[in-house]
Amino acid sequence: MRLGIISALAEEQHGLIEALESPSRHFHGMREYTAGKLWEIDAVCVLSRIGKVAAAMTAAILVEKFGVTHIVFTGVAGSGDKNVNVGDIVVADTLVQHDFDASPLFPRFEIPLTGLSSFATDVALTERLAGAAAPISRVHRGLIASGDQFIGKLTQIQAIKTALPQLLAVEMEGAAVAQVCFELGIPFAVIRTISDNANDEAAVDFMHFIKTVAAGYAFDVIRNFCKG
Ligand code: SAH
Repeated sequence: MRLGIISALAEEQHGLIEALESPSRHFHGMREYTAGKLWEIDAVCVLSRIGKVAAAMTAAILVEKFGVTHIVFTGVAGSGDKNVNVGDIVVADTLVQHDFDASPLFPRFEIPLTGLSSFATDVALTERLAGAAAPISRVHRGLIASGDQFIGKLTQIQAIKTALPQLLAVEMEGAAVAQVCFELGIPFAVIRTISDNANDEAAVDFMHFIKTVAAGYAFDVIRNFCKG
């Protein structure tokens, strides 16, 4: 396995670069890719920046230029369900682009020419990631939705939840990575720690969480993942 580890923000990747043994840094397309050994696993860590295009480009380059065989995305997200609380972890089973709508040509959410409106994560990778997260916080498994919007209004999250009742979390990159990995045939998984409730308080909660709490999560989960 050569594992690509993507986060959107530096806080979501805290400690991982430092944990890489014999790191080598490569700059490409406004991103810094750091390759090395992470607890015996051959890994490449990178910050994608924010949003679906940024994440899609980063995932494709990890595969095509850096030869990764598996991808994990680790980051934070807004809650998409009343039972999913700040500090909980959501591991995706499937991902959907909640802002994708080519209707009436295609059903809402369907990605043209794939015939799919959601992309499933790799079962083995997802199981291993959920196992790695279990000692750290409460873990939920299910649907994560991504779009090019920070969801920070109650009316916004309510509209998405109405359209996607199975929703557990909202973020801005996961489903883009999912589509790229599906099209390239790369097993992938997505794990998100809940930073906010995607409601009117989301922006303040997000900033607080990312500054004070987020740092430990990625490091602990990925360490458990690599060691397991
Ligand atoms: N002003 C912030 C913007 C971050 S956008 C900054 O410059 O750092 C929010 C990031 O966290 C995205 O990468 C997204 O994937 C995730 N996220 C957390 N809460 C979210 C929410 N409520 N809606 C959408 N994305 C969210």
